[in-house]
Amino acid sequence: MKRVLFVASEALPYVSSGGLADVMYSLPKALVRSGVDARVILPLYAQITSEMRKDMTFLGTLNLPLAWRNQYCGVFSAAKDGVTYYFIDNEYYFRRENLYGSYDDGERYAYFCKAVLESMPLTGFFPDVLHANDWQSAASVIYLKLHYNRDSRYNGMKAVFSIHNIEYQGVYGAKTMGDVFEIRPWEHHAVEWHGDFNLMKGAIECCDALTTVSPRYAREIMRPEYAKGLDALIRDKSYKLRGILNGIDTAYYNPHTDPELACNYSADTPSLKAKNKSALLFDMALPDDGKPMIAMITRLTEQKGLDLVLRVIDEILDDGVQLVLLGTGDPAYEARFRELEWRRHDAVRGIIRYDKALSRRIYAASDLFLMPSRTEPCGLAQMIASAYGAVPVVRETGGLADSIHSYNEFTDEGNGFTFADYNAHDMLYTLRRALGFYKDKPFWEKFVARVMRTDFSWEQPAREYFQLYQQL
Ligand code: ADP
Repeated sequence: MKRVLFVASEALPYVSSGGLADVMYSLPKALVRSGVDARVILPLYAQITSEMRKDMTFLGTLNLPLAWRNQYCGVFSAAKDGVTYYFIDNEYYFRRENLYGSYDDGERYAYFCKAVLESMPLTGFFPDVLHANDWQSAASVIYLKLHYNRDSRYNGMKAVFSIHNIEYQGVYGAKTMGDVFEIRPWEHHAVEWHGDFNLMKGAIECCDALTTVSPRYAREIMRPEYAKGLDALIRDKSYKLRGILNGIDTAYYNPHTDPELACNYSADTPSLKAKNKSALLFDMALPDDGKPMIAMITRLTEQKGLDLVLRVIDEILDDGVQLVLLGTGDPAYEARFRELEWRRHDAVRGIIRYDKALSRRIYAASDLFLMPSRTEPCGLAQMIASAYGAVPVVRETGGLADSIHSYNEFTDEGNGFTFADYNAHDMLYTLRRALGFYKDKPFWEKFVARVMRTDFSWEQPAREYFQLYQQL
């Protein structure tokens, strides 16, 4: 049996701030089902509740040297849905108000990554593959290949590094290389980037296989407009790069069983979806007068294409639609959507908070799900929306292009509506096209059922990861 250790800065059901946590929950679970001994290692953040800590077992402590520091390191484990989770405990580093955004994030995750390797003798789990994700866990790959490769317990271990989002690379001043990250002068070439220290660059250099979360994004990050400066490096390493589209946990995101919904439904009963719409409209004090409802559930960042929405929102609303947006993020966008709700109270709700339960009620209630991202490595929201029968309207980028294919009325193929250019009026045109089909009720009901049946499960992606581990 192959042993794989996922190194991650967040994973459901313990702690989550975005799509990475979903993947770190459902991919290991899917791999375990196919016979891989997949485990996950995480920081024990203050955000992990005492309720969740009840099921944890204390495995022991170690003294962890990092450059000139010596830090306490506690190790806990827990089993959830067949997957073993390990937790690295250090309150100085992980008892913070937010997961990310501290002045010393670099040091916090360097500590975590070193602890990943140092805790293996304690847990007794020496994986065949160390699978690290994004910049926060990049140092585990760097340390494995640069510092631990002379130890026979580690030197057969392969490293996979997955880029979930290339926009965040973990870049620090060159002075931190030795002082914080314990990188020795003769190793600088592996991690140095334009005079700085770049964690993601280091992991790309050091890993045995590089993956990203969709085939299209794998091609996009070879281009300067997508790669935030790393395109030449990625082109150079393209021999070890592959894109594997994420899936979603179809048992969890299932409108047939979801306990949050006013009325459960499935692809066999799409008409019942309307009851969820009525319930949400009632809760939000919006008129229930048969208008199509467009939803957006997203981090409010520039990457998500919010500028396009704000550019043409009045034209969209004047077509007689309702917009429900759930999101948090950049205060400037939060303010603009609050203002929009105030100005167009008849048709818009801009709910500025992070609320998983409400998000599922919105997916279930809405007719269209808008995701006009400027870049989108994979995107899970469009897959969740599909599962709940909210027809995706997306821009053709990254995983959106790989997962949503525009409806073609001549061949009757497709599972959503798409547009190519990052242009507000192309988006508006595509929304209007979708709304045209929405008016044809018998067609729309059949189309919604088809969208709901699209297979976004982890079965196929898990098989591809399995093959990758075997090749390594
Ligand atoms: P990203 O990882 O870039 O944030 P994804 O589409 O891959 O985007 O994943 C976003 C996930 O976070 C989805 O499951 C989406 O439903 C959820 N989400 C985003 N914003 C919110 C919010 N404000 N409340 C609840 N869930 C949210």
